[in-house]
Amino acid sequence: MISYKKIVPPLDDTVSKSYGLFDWQSFFSNVFYSNNQRIKQTGYNNNQVAFLRGYVVSHISQDLGDFAEALRESDNVKLRTKTGSMFAWIFALANELEEDLEDIIYDKYPGFCPYCGHKYHCQCAWWLPSQIKKGKDRIHTKPIEDNESPHTKPNQLSGWITTWELIYGKKYKIAMTVADIMYKLLEEEAEILEELDKAKGGQLNRDEPYYKKLTREVADFVSWYFALLYKLQQDLPPDQLSKILYEKFKDGCPWCKEQICKCYPKWLEES
Ligand SMILES: [Zn+2]
Ligand SMILES: [Zn+2]
Repeated sequence: MISYKKIVPPLDDTVSKSYGLFDWQSFFSNVFYSNNQRIKQTGYNNNQVAFLRGYVVSHISQDLGDFAEALRESDNVKLRTKTGSMFAWIFALANELEEDLEDIIYDKYPGFCPYCGHKYHCQCAWWLPSQIKKGKDRIHTKPIEDNESPHTKPNQLSGWITTWELIYGKKYKIAMTVADIMYKLLEEEAEILEELDKAKGGQLNRDEPYYKKLTREVADFVSWYFALLYKLQQDLPPDQLSKILYEKFKDGCPWCKEQICKCYPKWLEES
């Protein structure tokens, strides 16, 4: 069980600038969670997996597609609004899983690269097939740099991008294009869906092996989203990410205009 922070609309411009990832997750839970539960119960017969696949991940997919379009068209305004939507649906996913997003990311990426052990300049290259193979071992439990402790968990949203820059920035800069990162995001999304498929009876079970894998895939997805935001920092400066969320969500749900969202999809309404 997570204890969320009491962060509710309307948001304060200055205070929200310093919000961390979990502060934002709490805010999104407060605005959207109850309505999402209603949609799950009434629209998906309370089938959690159907709701996650058909509603939450499906919206992530839609936003990823819109994001790709904004990139291709160099549409900066759309890039900003889609950045906000992507975060919103990632939070909805974490909230439905009842997981603290900071914890699941840090569990998979504990302030250094778990595969090569480096806290600066990950050495897991990208250009040889053997180096991008799946199922690599996470052999390192602490940084390989002498006597150094891992990067700590960032306490501001922008801190995740700057920490990812320290660990992975060189690789992102030299070996990966924005398109490569989009491919990785699609791949991770597919892996999330693959793990969801393993649940029986429509409900996820934390005691089953797939559950841990699912949280790891969510961490991977968000990690590549950080990579994307890092690559796009000319247009989306990390220190403006909280501002971007503030602009879109400061008064609550931008779609139904309520502080606590009451949106109900048209395709679920009785005709
Ligand atoms: Zn590495
Ligand atoms: Zn709404």
